[in-house]
Amino acid sequence: MVDLVSQYQKIKPAIDSAIMNVIENAQFINGPEVVGFQKELEEYLGVKHVIPCANGTDALQIALMALGLKPGDEVITPSFTYIATTEVMALLGLKPVFVEVDKDTFCMDPAVIEAAITANTKALVPVHLYGQAANMDEIMKIAKKHNLFVVEDNAQAIGSDYYHSDGSVSKTGTIGDIGCTSFFPSKNLGCYGDGGAICTNNDALAATMRMVANHGQSERYYHDIVGCNSRLDSIQAAVLRIKLRELDGYVLARRKVADHYDGFFAQFPGIKTPIRGKESKHVFHQYTLTLNGIDRDALNAFLATKDVPSMIYYPVPAHKQKMFASFGSSDTVLPVTDWLTQRVISLPIHTEMEQEQLDYICSSVTEFISSNVSN
Ligand SMILES: *Cc1c(COP(=O)(O)O)cnc(C)c1O
Repeated sequence: MVDLVSQYQKIKPAIDSAIMNVIENAQFINGPEVVGFQKELEEYLGVKHVIPCANGTDALQIALMALGLKPGDEVITPSFTYIATTEVMALLGLKPVFVEVDKDTFCMDPAVIEAAITANTKALVPVHLYGQAANMDEIMKIAKKHNLFVVEDNAQAIGSDYYHSDGSVSKTGTIGDIGCTSFFPSKNLGCYGDGGAICTNNDALAATMRMVANHGQSERYYHDIVGCNSRLDSIQAAVLRIKLRELDGYVLARRKVADHYDGFFAQFPGIKTPIRGKESKHVFHQYTLTLNGIDRDALNAFLATKDVPSMIYYPVPAHKQKMFASFGSSDTVLPVTDWLTQRVISLPIHTEMEQEQLDYICSSVTEFISSNVSN
């Protein structure tokens, strides 16, 4: 799905010397690279505080821990997402309340949020799935009206711009109270191991989240609140400083691949290419087709025989996971989510794709469709 080897070859001298520099200075934890990356990411995102941490799942957990919620409090979130988004809610004793997504953007549908709000609702956690932002203007409006926190899961959309209805522009992840992201290697800004970050413009939340991520302490060995241990290590920070400079170029490369796919698949009535909402700049963490009248699982299996690595993100939505059975979520009815999980398929998309690879993938899909005309 991604080609991290070719990507590395292009930045190899800078990466190699940055990593060697960390090793030679032996400042593996909280060294100058971590501070440098934090500052550079704050600048890039236009946000007051970035708190680096160990991974994207921790980022979400730390964010929710900092909100002062109590067990049983409800958090409204889409079911159509990676499990990390909702798993941390269960871990903290919060109740995930799963709502529907918009079938064009794959993101939380603002139209269904208010009906899910109860006296126990404390937060909304929208996910900018596949690299496209949820409708944040509407989500923020609802949050203000009902006095709810908003935590953005920005793990798939770092680098995306959100165009507000008043004409202003924000980076995704900086619109809600807190934004969370992941630097898992295959993410749009990926390191060479695990990494994550949280961002906020709120000074008090930033201070609390720094404490939570550091064993609940702000002064060494004085632990005021229950926290955890979640750090970005210096080697990963050094890699990320170099890759952050490339991020806008990486986004452009992904969008070019998406443009090519869009043009090619337009000829097939059973294939719906990703909709690009006018509210944001799609950064194409995934390029995901929705199939209608084409057997998705058969196509997936066929592409595997052609050595084309297609993926299903995600075959089982959160509300149908056994993990959540005790939360009563199996009674949740989400027809759009169910419909999408049976029809979506993601094709390879990355920063190093060659025309030849694109042509091969497209002709492989064509071969499947023309040999299955009865579909
Ligand atoms: C990757 C991802 C996460 C978790 O990130 P990790 O770094 O793997 O813990 C959370 N939410 C979404 C939507 C993701 O894609």
